[in-house]
Amino acid sequence: MPEPVSNKERQYAIRSRRPSVLLIYTGGTIGMVRNEETGALESFNFDRLLEQVPELRRFDYRISTYTFTPPIDSSDMSLDHWEKLVRIIDFNYNYFDGFVILHGTDTMSYTASALSFMLENLGKPVILTGSQLPIGMLRTDGKENLITAIEIAAARRDDGSPMVPEVCIYFKDKLLRGNRTTKIYADRFNAFRSFNFPPLATVGINIEYHEDLIRRPDPGKPFKAHTLVDPNVVVLTLFPGIQQSLVHSVLHIPGLRAVVLRTFGAGNAPRLSWFADELREAAERGILFVNITQCQAGSVQMGLYETSLPLIQAGVVSGYDCTPECAITKLMFLIGHKLPIEELRLRMNSNLRGEITR
Ligand code: ASP
Repeated sequence: MPEPVSNKERQYAIRSRRPSVLLIYTGGTIGMVRNEETGALESFNFDRLLEQVPELRRFDYRISTYTFTPPIDSSDMSLDHWEKLVRIIDFNYNYFDGFVILHGTDTMSYTASALSFMLENLGKPVILTGSQLPIGMLRTDGKENLITAIEIAAARRDDGSPMVPEVCIYFKDKLLRGNRTTKIYADRFNAFRSFNFPPLATVGINIEYHEDLIRRPDPGKPFKAHTLVDPNVVVLTLFPGIQQSLVHSVLHIPGLRAVVLRTFGAGNAPRLSWFADELREAAERGILFVNITQCQAGSVQMGLYETSLPLIQAGVVSGYDCTPECAITKLMFLIGHKLPIEELRLRMNSNLRGEITR
């Protein structure tokens, strides 16, 4: 009979085990080095990661790598790639303490949002990072981003559990909840911002985790990887002077299931009778509308102004303070599950992964 193991002993055993991290390279600027002969930027061979970033040897971690072949610019990221990432994480879930995904910055917020929904009851860190300058360049931001992302993915609490079991973006000294992020700069090192939710950690001399903000999995439920997503979503941005013909054609796209309506201010739209009619008619055909604001920060508050009443009457659902990236991917995830419209509305209104403030 094996000796019974106390909780303390188990925690000690976990803490003293060498942390393991799976590093998944999808592509993007971070994985580029300058070819000394041609001067051009090329993707580097990730199997030789330690040669490019010898600093990683100083971690006492087991780091394994997986590379997309060929690596992709993140503008080419697709739903199939998200599915592939989910499968890689699911397949390796029990073998690693955490996952770091190297990704181009352009669509990183979309991938982080999508993964946050597709990885249900996540109990391990999934940290996305990248860089504005290739890792092979002298002034690169890639090394710091990569090294800190790995450290965060391997970090544990005193009881041995992962410090940040969430899908996050780490970039330039901030760890942000992935589904709260937006890329705000094309050319600065602090490329990402989370306007409506504070960072989960701030990085200076020390990594300061804001543990009260970090979500934890429900211990009574298993981790579940989802691969169903449906792309039949459109974003309709309102502007003064918008024409009925435009709205009509958008709402009659074949196969359309849901519309992210980017409204003014706290969720307002023009009080034009044709606009309300178009929305109502589309809603009757089973199309779901979600109202998010064009403002970068703050929340939709439907009913605050008269100008949002026609939206309420047409059955438009509030997206509260979620980002466009999050509204789009949450809808793709939910409609991918072929839920009845009432269930869809209910889930859009619920805070599933910390993506809205409710
Ligand atoms: N175009 C690149 C990409 O998103 C930019 C980057 O990596 O930052 O893949």
